[in-house]
Order: sequence, then structure tokens, then C-alpha cells
Amino acid sequence: MNQKLTLPPDGLERLFEVLKERGFTVVGPTVREGAIVYDRLASPADLPRGITDEQDGGVYRLKPRADGALFGYVVGPQSWKRFLDPPVKRLWRAERDGADFKIVPEEPDQETFAFLGVRSCEIHAMAIQDRVFTGGEHKDPGYEARRRSAFIIAVQCTVAGGTCFCVSMNTGPRSESGFDIALTEIVDAERHLFVVEAGSPRGREILAALDTRPAEADEMAEAEKRIAKAAAQMGRTLDTEGVHDLLMQNPEHPRWGEVAGRCLSCANCTMVCPTCFCSTVEDVTDISGDHAERWQKQDSCFTMDFSYLHGGSVRASTRSRYRQWLTHKLATWIDQFGESGCTGCGRCITWCPVAIDLTEEVAAIRANPPAGAESIKKGKP
Ligand code: SF4
Ligand code: SF4
Repeated sequence: MNQKLTLPPDGLERLFEVLKERGFTVVGPTVREGAIVYDRLASPADLPRGITDEQDGGVYRLKPRADGALFGYVVGPQSWKRFLDPPVKRLWRAERDGADFKIVPEEPDQETFAFLGVRSCEIHAMAIQDRVFTGGEHKDPGYEARRRSAFIIAVQCTVAGGTCFCVSMNTGPRSESGFDIALTEIVDAERHLFVVEAGSPRGREILAALDTRPAEADEMAEAEKRIAKAAAQMGRTLDTEGVHDLLMQNPEHPRWGEVAGRCLSCANCTMVCPTCFCSTVEDVTDISGDHAERWQKQDSCFTMDFSYLHGGSVRASTRSRYRQWLTHKLATWIDQFGESGCTGCGRCITWCPVAIDLTEEVAAIRANPPAGAESIKKGKP
């Protein structure tokens, strides 16, 4: 077991310095336009101090909290994929070279990130995207380089949000692995400190450069108590028992039509999801015809264009697009990658403008399977 240490809140200043000395760009939570987003941080002063978030289906708002906590909220609209798999990126350029064209590959990024405030569900989401981008025959070299160099500073959740259900997905609230350092914030009338532990040799080396002391037994017990409290506070639950077969055996369930009646096909749920990875490519050229570029852009299975094949979209209805999304997340993702594509972060519920909630949709299908549910019909939209 890793030794637990104690770091005072002003120890975060030193943590920033040590990370910068080693060439890392520190990225973490900060308040912008009424939400907690992830951005490059200059110092701990950029963190959302004394702020919490209220979340429910289609509801997100920030509120003050009196204790000055630095991590007293859960996840916001963005995830770390914004940095590991940027939503818009140039893949290559082509320049006219006489009668021919010369392909100029994109230079690899030089920036190495230290991600501060990564939650357990987000560490699981990164591991899921690792399998997508680096687990198969065709790897994404940019993602692989950014991911391999990233330094992960986890923050153990001590509060849960109204749309969180990581306990159901077995992805939190405690980060057990996948981090370099993990912090648990303890803040009350008498004290404000972090119980910290290293999860890698790099993490041990960084912690050795900070002003820490061995954690007291009561501090470790308090940290555990706060994580257990978050586990007991989950805003949602999802019964995952047999969910793969439940969805695969109900492609014609009337609930798909009901949810399609509300769904705007806006794609918000896929944009905010930390595991969604779909993209499209777009070629652009200047008016001279001497210069062309290929750009990769984040895309969504909710757009008509995404499933456009010769002559039209394969998934022409909102019903078929919502069904595709949910069935992929909770069923066919398991067939593809050996695990669920959902970590229970709750973002798709919070940021759905009409409060569609995948936990409710699964429960509704489970509660009322149509008599004689057919096996999935291949090729039916
Ligand atoms: S499907 Fe929803 S709850 Fe699950 S990981 Fe994606 S955004 Fe989070
Ligand atoms: S489920 Fe909600 S967020 Fe997703 S496409 Fe439909 S309306 Fe948009």
C-alpha cells in the first residue's frame, strides 16, 4: 500500500512550481461563463475556490460554498478528451510542388500536460479511449504521445452530483489506479489539507519535492469517510445486470419512439461524453489551388451526415440515432472493446436540453419488455 502523506493547501503552489520546472503545462478546473471547465492554469488561484455545482437532468448551476474548498464540485461540461483528442485538428497539409503535390505531415505537439483534478470516472474514461486510439492495429500517434506523457493528479470525490452514477458502473468514486498522484481534500472549521498518495514512480518523485508529512491516522480515516459519503450520495443508479442482452433484444421497444419524440438530435450528449470518440474529416483548399489541408473534427452519431452512405443516411430517424447511441454505449461497446462505454459521469443527463436520462431509459425498457421481444434484426434502421 502506498504511504499516505499530508499536504497543506499552500503546498499546491509548490506543486505547480515543481510541475512547471519539469516542463508540464498544468490544466485543471476553473470557472468560465458560469461553468467549471478545464483550462490551462497559472496557479492554484485559478481553481474554483468555495464553489459547488448543482446538477440534474438539463440543469447545471454554480453556487457558493462557505468552506473555501478547492475541489468541492463534480464534473462539468468538458472532459480531458478536449486535450488528449482535440475536437479540431489538422492532420496534414499538401503544397504544390511543380506539377505534383508534396504532403507535409503535421508536427507532433510539444506540450506535455499535467492534469489536475481528474476524477475516478474520468480516469476510467481515459482508459476506455486508450483502447480505442491505441489498442488496435490503427493507432492515433498524436493521442498516444499526449496520453503517454500526461501526468495525472487525481482528486478523490468527496461530494457526488445529482446526475452521478459511477458506483453503478464500478468506476468510482475512489480512484484506485491510473494516476501519478491522488489527493483527498479535507476542509472543515479546524483544518484545510490534502491527504496525498503516489501511484507511480513519477508521482513519488514529484511528491518528494513537496513539503509533506506522514498523514495522521485520523486524517486518513476522515479522507475515507468523505469518499464513502460521496459513494452514498449518487444522484442516479443504473442496473447493469444483463443490460447488454436487454438492449440487444429490444430494438423495437416502444420506448425508443417515445424518447425520440423528445430528443432534439442536438448531439450534446456525445459532445460532453468523455468516452465518445467519433470524428469526421474535411479537406479544404485555398483559391489558388496550391495549398490544401485535411482537418479532423469531432462528430456525432446524432448527425444525419455521420451515417450517410451512398444515397442517404443509414440512420435517418431520431429514433434510430438515439437507439444506436444508447445501444453502443451500454451493449455493443462491450462486444467491441470488452467493457461498457459508460463510466457513469452523468454529463449526458445534465447537458441534455430536454433532460433525457439514460438511466431512466434503461429502467423503462427493463420494466416493460414487450411480449415476445424479438432478437435484433440485422440491417433494420
Ligand atoms: S454515456 Fe453519459 S454518463 Fe456515460 S460516460 Fe458518457 S456522458 Fe457520462
Ligand atoms: S438525448 Fe438529449 S443531448 Fe442527446 S441528442 Fe437527444 S436532445 Fe440532444
